[in-house]
Order: sequence, then structure tokens, then C-alpha cells
Amino acid sequence: MPRLRQQNVVAAQWSPNGSVVGAVDLTAPGTHVFGQNVFGSVAQRQRLPRDIFRQLQATIERGEPLDPALADTVASAMKDWALEKGATHYTHWFQPLTGSTAEKHDSFFGPVGDGTALAEFSGKELIRGEPDASSFPTGGIRATFEARGYTAWDPTSPAFIMENVNGAVLCIPTAFASWTGEALDTKIPLLRSMEALNKAALRALRLFGDDETKRVFTTIGPEQEYFLIDRHFYYERPDLVNCGRTLFGAKPPKGHELDDHYFGSIPERVLACMLETESELAKLGVPIKTRHNEVAPAQYEVAPIYENSNVGTDHQQLCMQVMQTVAKRYGLICLLHEKPFAGVNGSGKHNNWSMSTNLGANLLEPGDTPHENLQFLFFTTAVIAAVHKHQGLLRASTAHANQDHRLGANEAPPAIISIFLGSELENVFQAITEGTAGVSASGELMGLGTPVLPNFPKHGGDRNRTSPFAFTGNKFEFRTLGSSQSPSLPNAVLNTIVAEAIDNLCEDLEAAMKPKGKSKKAKTVETALPQAIAASYGTTSPIVFGGDNYAEEWYAEAEQRGLLNLRTTPDALPWLIDEQTVSAFSNYGVMSERELHARYEVMLEQYVITVNTEAELAADIAATLLLPASVRYLRELQVAGLDDLAADTSELVKEFGASIKELQRANLDHPHHDLMDEARYMRDTVLPAMAEVRTLADRLERVVADDLWPLPKYSEILFIK
Ligand code: ADP
Ligand code: MG
Repeated sequence: MPRLRQQNVVAAQWSPNGSVVGAVDLTAPGTHVFGQNVFGSVAQRQRLPRDIFRQLQATIERGEPLDPALADTVASAMKDWALEKGATHYTHWFQPLTGSTAEKHDSFFGPVGDGTALAEFSGKELIRGEPDASSFPTGGIRATFEARGYTAWDPTSPAFIMENVNGAVLCIPTAFASWTGEALDTKIPLLRSMEALNKAALRALRLFGDDETKRVFTTIGPEQEYFLIDRHFYYERPDLVNCGRTLFGAKPPKGHELDDHYFGSIPERVLACMLETESELAKLGVPIKTRHNEVAPAQYEVAPIYENSNVGTDHQQLCMQVMQTVAKRYGLICLLHEKPFAGVNGSGKHNNWSMSTNLGANLLEPGDTPHENLQFLFFTTAVIAAVHKHQGLLRASTAHANQDHRLGANEAPPAIISIFLGSELENVFQAITEGTAGVSASGELMGLGTPVLPNFPKHGGDRNRTSPFAFTGNKFEFRTLGSSQSPSLPNAVLNTIVAEAIDNLCEDLEAAMKPKGKSKKAKTVETALPQAIAASYGTTSPIVFGGDNYAEEWYAEAEQRGLLNLRTTPDALPWLIDEQTVSAFSNYGVMSERELHARYEVMLEQYVITVNTEAELAADIAATLLLPASVRYLRELQVAGLDDLAADTSELVKEFGASIKELQRANLDHPHHDLMDEARYMRDTVLPAMAEVRTLADRLERVVADDLWPLPKYSEILFIK
């Protein structure tokens, strides 16, 4: 059946009533109350006896273990609340190593023998679940025959209600562990890493004379990039449906060369979809703040207000889920893939990260007093040291087959991890390291011409966007993450390595404060700190780079500086199980060697499976859709007696056929004995074979009659909105 342009007209149509029948009017003020579907502190206060409410709050705020005796009361209140909201089922909502979320629903209702049913939900059911977990990836931690895993309630992330047109489910955020207590999920290491950082940061604050702060927690605010395309195009592309990215597609004549899309006005249908997405997320307590067009056509970005890393990570998962669900109501498909379209900007997730105290201070805020400045310099020095030492691990924590198409493609940060500080801050560190800055008795930084640090400009859109790890005024922005990725592993890594660096710096500082020399007088923190900073920054400063991370020269310079350039997933993943990783993670109780190995294996396996799926599908699409179309077109040329044109096309079609054969052969020849060997084979043999098929297909796309070409083109998918 020839392709009809008429389909594009259909694709362009949409109904502003995107929401399902019977849904509330989104334009009426006050339709959605923020957090209305969250069993958060407001609902808890209303429904729990006062002493139980207080104990639960203490658990949440101070991370204390919950007294199981309270669980029945909390469960009962939670159930009543959920039933009033129309929920009939509950689920322990968890995040296995698949990278997405998992849920198994159980009904609240059980028969009571007289033909009726009663809603029941006990404390035991709230606290612990036993999913039949045998089919989740475990990286060898748990053999299938000992399939037992359990989920455990995480009271620090509030329960919420997921609505569906035909009902509602109470979702209880939980951790997922094996019976032996090993983490089978991404939440447990994140929570442990937050605890590790809490301890280290408190130790440092005490050195600075702070006896008030009780808790330090990390915060994240992930900026999420994504594409929205019409579903007609999506369903006509088996590659998008099965792999989330196009395996074929010539670059469109118009791309983003005109820079006319970034921050451009948002198309009406897209905005309608965004508004409904945000209102759904508001109900779930996800604080969405910003939305705008991104660089590529049909690409957008959404960003929340930052929250503590655990809740922020749960919310990020909800955000991705709701974006995909709501898009469909508008006839759109939300693509979260890191590189859905070759030659067009891919999507990342910018992980804004900082450390907050229970008193509301941001430890990466330079502050207004010299004392605050010194504290800020201390923590920043630690972050620099952590990133320098564990650059390979940070890269590994974001590794995925999808990412290899994006990192280093001059649109996203390169695979080389480096830090952008901004020239003002870089100068401060330079001055301290060279000894041209000292600290006066009053704690003022001397030699910098200013009692307090200059007010660093907060990053605007055009401040160094090429750096993978940038200081942006009062936080760091880790930009290497992929758009579809859960922030949990990268943040568990970040928290752990910074905890380690803070402890190391504390030790250096304590040593520098020790009484020395004739006077035998102990130094104050203020006078000892520059020495500690200078020693640390002096060795870790090669990680600091303020130039253009896309420039060719950077690759050579980075190599000279001894920085790692881990271009592909198989290059990066070994850092997950490197000796210094194992040492940091086990010292801080974040992950055991076995738990790290599990993640290494799961991620390596995902790499192999992802590339293999793409390669098999590419061979199928090429052989059964694109080659037949090309042959038909060739036939038309021959019938018309256009020998010259036919000769050229025939040559191209032959080459194409041969490349398909080559790919099919590569798909059969995997080495199976060792996962890393197989991963390297995918990278070195399968991916190049796929690329060759694609190159020829994309050339044919420009030759074959448009009505015969069986796939919608980039010029349609990206521009019909
Ligand atoms: P800019 O990118 O211009 O600095 P914002 O200050 O609005 O813009 O921050 C962008 C993202 O960084 C937002 O998601 C925001 O919530 C987040 N963010 C801001 N402050 C922090 C912080 N202290 N910790 C973590 N994330 C933060
Ligand atoms: Mg952005």
C-alpha cells in the first residue's frame, strides 16, 4: 500500500479535550490541589492520633526506625484515606534494577463469608511485602530457586494514589531487598549514601563550630529533556515502538540549524499536554516549576523544584511515567530515549545537586560572611576531590547503550568528566593554592581584595553548557545523565564519593590544626583551612576545566591531564567494580562488593540486550520493509527505460542487500562465554554493521519514490505538531 500524505493531515489533528471523558475542567481555577493525592504530612496530621503522628514525623525527619507497633494505626488511617479517594487496591511500589518501577496490586477487599467483602489493610501489609521477585534482574545476587525478595516500606517518601479512568491504586514507596538483606533495587543504596553523607558533613560542620545542625541531606532537581511526536508516526515506525529510537532516517533538510526552537513559543497541543501533565503531577505532589522548548524540533524540557534526593528520585520516576501517560491523551507519544533521532540533538537529564541542612542552609551557597565562605570552600574542595578521584565511576553510573550515541556528540557533555567552576571561583582556588590568599584573624580571605567571596553569577542559559559537571552558583549540575535514566545510581555515587572526600578533608584539616612549631599553639579552622584546601586542590585541579568541552583540543588536553575518556559503556562499566569503588562503597556501607558486582552485571547485560534488539530489528526492517520498497522503485525505473538512473540505484540496492546480510551474520555470531566479550563484540562488530545498513538505507530514502518509502520521515515526524 503506497504511503499517503493524507496521513500527515490526520496526524496534525488533535482535540483540545485531551482528557478522558468525564474528567474535570482543567481551566477552572482550583481544580487540582497540590498534593491532593499524597498521604503526606497534612493528611497524616488530620488522620493520625497526635502521638503517632509525631513519632512518624520523627522517623521521617531524623531517619529513625519506625516502631512496628505504630504500623497498624498508620496502615488503617492510610487505608481509610485511600478508600475515600476511590482506591480499591494497594501496591508496594519499588525500583528494581531494570531502571523503571515495579508494582503488584493487591485488593484491599477480602470476602468475609456472608457473601460480602471487607476492606482490610494491616500494619504488616504496609511494612513488608513479598513479591514473587524471581524475574527481576539481580546480577547473580539471588538464584531463581531462592526467589524470595521482600519490599519494605520507606516512610520517608510519602504514599500516593495513582488514578486511572477506571479506578485508583494506593502506591506505597518501598525498598526491595533479597532475603539475605542485599539491595536488589536502586533506592536502598541511595538511602544508605544519603546517610553516609549526613555523617561526614556533620563531622565537618562540627569542625567549623556548628553544633546546631542535626541533619544534612542531599537535594536534587533533575531537568528532564524529552520529545513529543504524533502517535501516527510512532505506530508506523517499528523501531520507535520497539527500541524507542529510529534505527533509520535521513537527516531532514531543516534541522535546528536556525536555532529557532530553543525557548520558542510552545505549540498549542504540546502546551495543552504539558498543562495536564503538570496538573496530574501536582496532585501527586511533584513540584514542577519550569517548562520550555529545547534545542531540537519537537524537543522540550521540564524541571521540578528541588527536593531531598530520595523523594526527588521517586518523583522523577513519577514524572517520566505521567508524561508518557498523559501524552497519549493528546495523540502524542513522549519519547524519553537519549537519542531518538540521529543527527538531531539527544535528550539528557541535568542532575542539579547540593547538600542542605535541617536548618535550611545550603552547604554549597557561598554565603554572606567570611565564615560561611570558608565553609563553602571546604565543601566545594571536597566535591572537586571526589569527582577527580572517581571520574570513571561517575561516568559508569550513567552508562547505557543509548548514552553512547549522545555523550561526546557535540550536543551533550563529552564522555570525559571535568568540572566547570567559573572563572571567579577558579581564581579563588588558584589564589589559595598558590598561597597568595590567606585568612586574616577575623576570618577574612586576604589577597582576594574582598572580605567575602564575589557573588558568583548563577548560571544562565548560556553559561558553559558543554561541561559535564558545572558549578551553577549554589549547586553542581551533573549533566551526563541520560533522559530515561533513574537518578538514583548517579546520586548514590555522588553522595558516597563526596562523603569520602569530606572525611579525607576533615582529616587533613585536623592535621593542619594540630599544634606545631615553637609556639605549640593549635591553629584555628580559619587559619588551617587554606593549607588543607591548597593541598587538596593542588592535586585535584586537573579535573577543573573552564573551556569548551566540545572542542577538538580538549580531547588532547584531557589526555595530557590524565583524565579518563570512557567513550562507550563497555569502557566505563568496569569502574563500578574497581578497587577504589569497592573500597569507598564498602567503607561507607552503601554497597558491598557483591551488590556492586550485581549492578555491573545487570548494566552490562542491558547493554548487550539493547544493542542486540536494535540490531535484529534493524536487519528485519531493512530486509522486509526498506529493501522491497527499493526493489519496487528500481523496477519502475527499469520499466520506464531509465537505464542510467536504474544503474545507479541498482548499485545502491545491491550494496544495501549485502550490508543486510553482513548484519544478519553479525547477529548470529555472538561470543557467549563471557558477558564483557559479548558487550565488546556488540560494540566493535554489531554496531558498525548496523551503522553501515543505516547509511545505505538513508541514502536510499533520498532516492526511492516517496510514496513507496514505508517509514515516515524525520521531516514529518519532527515538524508536524
Ligand atoms: P538555573 O539552571 O538557571 O540555575 P534554577 O536555579 O531554577 O535554574 O535551577 C535549575 C534546577 O536546579 C531546578 O530543577 C532547581 O530545582 C534545581 N536546583 C536549584 N537549587 C538546587 C539545590 N540547592 N539543590 C538541588 N537542585 C537545585
Ligand atoms: Mg536543558
